[in-house]
Amino acid sequence: MDQTAYLYALPYSLYREHGVRRYGFHGTSHAYVSAQAIEILGLKDKPSRIITAHLGNGCSVTAIKDGKSLDTSMGLTPLEGLVMGTRSGDIDPGLFSFLVNHLNYSTQQIDTLLNKQSGLLGISELSNDCRTIEEAAQENHPQATLALDIFCYRLAKQIASFLVPLNGLDALVFTGGIGENSDIIREKVVNQLNFLGMHINKERNLNARFGNQGVITDESHSPVAMVIPTNEEWVIANDAATLAKGV
Ligand code: AMP
Repeated sequence: MDQTAYLYALPYSLYREHGVRRYGFHGTSHAYVSAQAIEILGLKDKPSRIITAHLGNGCSVTAIKDGKSLDTSMGLTPLEGLVMGTRSGDIDPGLFSFLVNHLNYSTQQIDTLLNKQSGLLGISELSNDCRTIEEAAQENHPQATLALDIFCYRLAKQIASFLVPLNGLDALVFTGGIGENSDIIREKVVNQLNFLGMHINKERNLNARFGNQGVITDESHSPVAMVIPTNEEWVIANDAATLAKGV
């Protein structure tokens, strides 16, 4: 990533002296599924603009141009960015002083609140498990519905913002436990991105679950959305083998 993408607008000395910057996470997963997408779409040795959405208990989105990551939603820690199972994702940093000054929270309590009690669990007051929330939403549980709506809205907004560094889009790739299995979330997100010319194909979306990969939008439209099961273990093994050979 470029400094423009990874630096916070904080005093520069925090970066220079303490390494405070956005690092990002889920790199092995984003690397794997973006390389697969480039291969599947026949974009090897051609310009490519891909957004990968790793949606599991932790969630992050990465903008990848010509195989190189330009920006990602997680930051110094995995707390930044999207709504996740139990993490809040982006919040107003002013919340810290509100919690301390008005509610007497300690640093530890704030940490627990943002990392373990927020996200899908915090909003739904039900579960951090997407399956449980989807089932409850289907039975008209209002906070489960709200949790899904906020999750998808924030995700679609983050994806749309990455059109800035990419200057366009060829493919949106879903992966991770939610990305690979939740046709409901994928449809809600793609529907909010219809303005890009991306339209869900219900049959393909239902078929691309439980380990099946494939395009889930109408192919007559560009860009496409697709599902690619991640394989972080393969990337780790492959990287280790490459390093071992180099010794
Ligand atoms: P991961 O961290 O990649 O293992 O993903 C865990 C998340 O995937 C949990 O929120 C699960 O509820 C979610 N997940 C797994 N299977 C499904 C499914 N069939 N439908 C919806 N969400 C699922």
